[in-house]
Amino acid sequence: MNKRFKQADWYEPLIFELSHEGRVGFTVQDVEPEISDSIKEAAELIPQELYRNTAPNLPEVSEIEVLRHYIHLSQMNYGVNSGIIYPLGSCTMKYNPIINEVIASNPSITELHPEQQQSSIQGILEILYKFEQAYLEITGMDRATLQPAAGAHGEWTGIMLIRAYHKERGELLERNEIIIPDSAHGTNPASAAMAGFKTVEIPSGPDGCINLEALKAVVGPKTAGLMLTNPNTLGIFENQIAEISKIIHESGGLMYYDGANLNAIMGKCRPGDMGFDVVHVNLHKTFSTPHGGGGPGSGPVGCKEFLAKYLPVPIIEKINGEYILNYDKPYSIGKIHGYNGNINVILKAWSYILTMGGLGLKESSELAVLNANYIANKLKEVKGLSLPYSPEKPRKHESVISAEVMSKETGIRALNIAKNLLDQGIHAPTIYFPLIVPEALMIEPTESEPVEKLDKFIDAVKIISELAYSNPQEALKAPQNTVVGKLDEAKAAHPKTICLSWKKLCSLNNEL
Ligand SMILES: *Cc1c(COP(=O)(O)O)cnc(C)c1O
Repeated sequence: MNKRFKQADWYEPLIFELSHEGRVGFTVQDVEPEISDSIKEAAELIPQELYRNTAPNLPEVSEIEVLRHYIHLSQMNYGVNSGIIYPLGSCTMKYNPIINEVIASNPSITELHPEQQQSSIQGILEILYKFEQAYLEITGMDRATLQPAAGAHGEWTGIMLIRAYHKERGELLERNEIIIPDSAHGTNPASAAMAGFKTVEIPSGPDGCINLEALKAVVGPKTAGLMLTNPNTLGIFENQIAEISKIIHESGGLMYYDGANLNAIMGKCRPGDMGFDVVHVNLHKTFSTPHGGGGPGSGPVGCKEFLAKYLPVPIIEKINGEYILNYDKPYSIGKIHGYNGNINVILKAWSYILTMGGLGLKESSELAVLNANYIANKLKEVKGLSLPYSPEKPRKHESVISAEVMSKETGIRALNIAKNLLDQGIHAPTIYFPLIVPEALMIEPTESEPVEKLDKFIDAVKIISELAYSNPQEALKAPQNTVVGKLDEAKAAHPKTICLSWKKLCSLNNEL
């Protein structure tokens, strides 16, 4: 992504390759005698067979070498803080204010131990309790668990609540189907299947929304629930949500809200008011935690009162002014995460909510929607591109552009557009998702970007379109300016040919 690195002569050594025997970066000082005694005592508790016989293979490098090495790696990377726009649809790569990091790294919090007595962790329990209150206000739910560590984990937890509800009513055997629209994120059917349900897919209508007739055709006594993202992954708001809710509830099923797209509606409307019974929210997306490369995440699950008794243990209660962790929940689905969840991410979200305030959150949704529509309306005019599913309909926080025409006319596909964007120093949007749009480019600029950055992105796409029509052979060559060139994707996915750890270990593996 960074033009300073020329692909041809690029080679970044591994930290192990910088190693020189005897070079030292850090020396452990002798410890106080009383600490040394307790270390010895602790060491005696470790079974003999677990002791290693040889020294670990660590790189021997000086402190400055370590520092340079990692700073250099970080500069080769692309981030919201260094790139010009990060429009990775569905991922909500917004700016993560530094104050959140400062709050989350406060030693009065980071040095707490989860096994500490409850009386000594009242501060963090109070934060978690208050966070839950804010979460309930934003989502329109009655109770929540903060434990799930990601959106997908939240989905599974939420579906387990639905399962527990049908089970207690003695209907689980018959009600074994979860209905999911074809525009859903892949985690939805996966979570429902992991919770033991059969999934039933329904097609979207020509307007990109749930087709009510198709829904009615599959709803019945087998329906355990519906999983829905609103706005959906096309960035379109399901405005028949009240009707959809009614159909599901009348059949005895429950409504599950995938809250990954909350960035479009927070402060404007609430899943709880749309008829949803269970919801997860991806704190790392909407509430600003840096989450590139798969983590860290947090996916709290909220539910309506009648499902609260099934929530995972413990839940946090305030009794006589004291915060307690309540494990006394006979109907609970049990424990789904160690201790109280990914607290670090919750703290960042808490800091974000407090610094933004209710009006700030609302304004941020409005700006995210404005930015997404600005891009969608400019890009649908670009040669070879279109905005399928009701192009005249406003989008919410993201839009899905199709490069089908360009692909047919020039051979330049969504993939090539993405790679050409990288060459211009811009992060590519999500491609080939949702599955119902051919040659999809899913673009979510978020509220973080000023208009000139949006224009820069739009101009970049126009340049690529012109290149595709004038010199497609050249457009096929991208990426040429990135640190790593064209990757062999088949090879990259093969465990025998890819080695993600240190060479020595790899050669060892190859011998095995
Ligand atoms: C990101 C996303 C998920 C999954 O969330 P993770 O935190 O990545 O597990 C589910 N649904 C939608 C619509 C998403 O965008």
